Amino acid sequence: MVDSRFKVLTSASTAGPGDAGRTGSWRVERPVIDYSRCTPAKSGRHACHLCWLYCPDAAVTKTIEPTFDLEYCKGCGICAEECPVKAIRMVPEEEFEKGDEQ
Ligand code: SF4
Ligand code: SF4
Repeated sequence: MVDSRFKVLTSASTAGPGDAGRTGSWRVERPVIDYSRCTPAKSGRHACHLCWLYCPDAAVTKTIEPTFDLEYCKGCGICAEECPVKAIRMVPEEEFEKGDEQ
């Protein structure tokens, strides 16, 4: 029997890409993924997807090979922090400005 003093709480909002707006040019780092370490990419099956789950701007796809929407990614590094196999690293934007291969 449900105790009426407690109600089931659900989120009233649904995160969507770009809820915090386009990032513009101020991001200082961007995530780069190593698919040879990423569990779903290696196994070909959906697995942890913690990068997708924790991204505060819904900028990661929940796909076998997760991808980042750099239009909206803020470069916060949460995805890299949460990845259990350290498949994501944060790379300074200046590395891309120099045209370095990643
Ligand atoms: S959290 Fe890491 S291992 Fe899991 S899907 Fe994302 S990149 Fe792959
Ligand atoms: S760096 Fe932050 S905003 Fe960008 S994909 Fe990772 S968690 Fe999302």
